[in-house]
Amino acid sequence: MATITLRGVTKRWGQFIGVKSLDLEIADREFLVLLGPSGCGKTTTMRMVAGLETASEGDILIGGKRVNDLEPKDRDVAMVFQSYGLYPNLTVWENIRFPLKVRKVDPSTHTERVQRAVDMVELNDFVHRKPAELSGGQRQRVALARAIVREPTVFLMDEPLSNLDAKLRVSTRAQIKNLQHRLATTTIYVTHDQIEAMTLADRVVVMNAGAVQQVGTPIEIYDRPANTFVAGFIGSPAMNLLSGEISEGVFTGDKVRIEGLATNHKGPVTLGFRAEDSGISTAAGEISAQVYSLELLGDCTIVTMHAGGALLSVKAPKEFRAVIGDPVHATVSAAICHLFDATTGERIE
Ligand code: ATP
Repeated sequence: MATITLRGVTKRWGQFIGVKSLDLEIADREFLVLLGPSGCGKTTTMRMVAGLETASEGDILIGGKRVNDLEPKDRDVAMVFQSYGLYPNLTVWENIRFPLKVRKVDPSTHTERVQRAVDMVELNDFVHRKPAELSGGQRQRVALARAIVREPTVFLMDEPLSNLDAKLRVSTRAQIKNLQHRLATTTIYVTHDQIEAMTLADRVVVMNAGAVQQVGTPIEIYDRPANTFVAGFIGSPAMNLLSGEISEGVFTGDKVRIEGLATNHKGPVTLGFRAEDSGISTAAGEISAQVYSLELLGDCTIVTMHAGGALLSVKAPKEFRAVIGDPVHATVSAAICHLFDATTGERIE
């Protein structure tokens, strides 16, 4: 059982707190993604699990056993980094075999284990090449195979796709998901890319400034963001957020009036809605605006519009035609709106 538990895990450097009292339970075989902007503490969290960084406070347990005082090599975790960390003078085969040699694994098992890892990442045609003779995607697969060959209890992956071009990133992402499913190995995966997080994760941990903002399945985080930070970070485009006042179920803001909100809340609030939940009209709607830009995505057009002081994105049919500056209306029904406290940014039920 490779569960991972973090209890009150904190990392300090002098006065600076990189990770604040983190509590997390990661289930056996779970694919957990740490998501957040640069500097939020994702990598530090993962390095503490790996043992490459010591926790200033708190307990880290792997498989129920406290590992704070164990060396990285004794934690049975395998890491995959964005820089592949391959040995340039070794062939693909020898690179993949390397962890077995270092760990003094019975040499009679090497060929079978390396071959199994090579098969998994489909590198059979490249085993005699050196890393310099491979594409970025192939190098990343060698790095994955080198983690797989150890058959660790935990995989730790730190932005493993960030050096790949957009197309390769999508195909390698699918490959990682498929591999993790087949290997059924507990995985912590770090990324700042919300699409990667949403597509790969069983659960996502959204972090900001060293603290957890929300933990949930991708759909929970998308459907019920816990605060304006998560709302603005998840989704493409990000959720629209508007300042205004609410009274008797009516939200009013600059050039905005939305009726029928199912809440007794009164006073200043931040209202959120997603581009894909709203609509567009040239005649009338809850929000009056001017077209700022149009982006044809193929199946739809994202219209960005100026409404009062805010820029909002709304999904329109792909046939939608307008010129920048044209008057336009966003249609937003009460049912698709999210409400957040104007001061704290926390979700209002
Ligand atoms: P990125 O996506 O840019 O890699 P991250 O979320 O992984 O960011 P971390 O690398 O975990 O962020 O860093 C968290 C914070 O801790 C950052 O503000 C960083 O500057 C700080 N930090 C990291 N290592 C050290 C260190 N050795 N000494 C002092 N501060 C550090």
